[in-house]
Amino acid sequence: MTTPRIPLMAGNWKMNLDWKQGQALVEDLGDALKGLDSSKAEAAILPPFVDLRTVQTVVDAGKLPISFGAQDISEHEEGAYTGEISGQMLAALGCTYAAVGHSERRQYHGETEQVTNAKVKAALKNGIVPILCVGEGLEDRKAGKQVATSLAQVEGGLEGLSAAEVEKTVIAYEPVWAIGTGEVATPDDAQEVCSAIRDWIRAAHGDSAADSVRVLYGGSVKSSNVAELMEKPDVDGALVGGASLKADEFAKIVRFQD
Ligand code: PGA
Repeated sequence: MTTPRIPLMAGNWKMNLDWKQGQALVEDLGDALKGLDSSKAEAAILPPFVDLRTVQTVVDAGKLPISFGAQDISEHEEGAYTGEISGQMLAALGCTYAAVGHSERRQYHGETEQVTNAKVKAALKNGIVPILCVGEGLEDRKAGKQVATSLAQVEGGLEGLSAAEVEKTVIAYEPVWAIGTGEVATPDDAQEVCSAIRDWIRAAHGDSAADSVRVLYGGSVKSSNVAELMEKPDVDGALVGGASLKADEFAKIVRFQD
């Protein structure tokens, strides 16, 4: 028997919007999501660090149906790590999620499998759900290595975790060639890798973890293509970049079942 997985639509704002613009967007999103049935979908946003306090204030004051989190998290606990933001700080702000290992972190900031794994652990230690991002580049896709590459990143990112910890994580399959390019993976492409990820979790950590973990697809998701992706049995939501910067568009993605 499978546990019902509530679809998660997470908006990754990336390095966009200052705190005032962030405030306006979360307010508009709150309006657009009024009356959202929380058994049908969960909306989450991942603003830049400097917008988090504002987002927290707006969400709390309005009791908005929006979870929020960070785009990254330090692997360190506290102390002399200039520029870093700890899990403890994020937890104190009420963050539910932290993205870890986004391809832009791996590509532009040299984040290794070890660092990604340490960040996953730092999130869990502070009661934050890591959204572990994995996915192949164009070369690997052309060579038919999308499953192997993605699974290697899942394995690396989850290294040393118990089944109970794995159960709490979210995995986002984001083929790098589909991110910000307008070139969305086909629903079958998304399903192929998302189901392979769930199968891997089942083999390594058992049924309960495999049936509970939400596996998202990310890469050029829009309101016009989300429904067909969500028809696939192993796609449990979306990690949305560009299309999460407009309240109406993101709300349509969250309400894909309406
Ligand atoms: P995109 O980004 O929706 O703009 O393609 C997705 C992501 O990087 O999370």
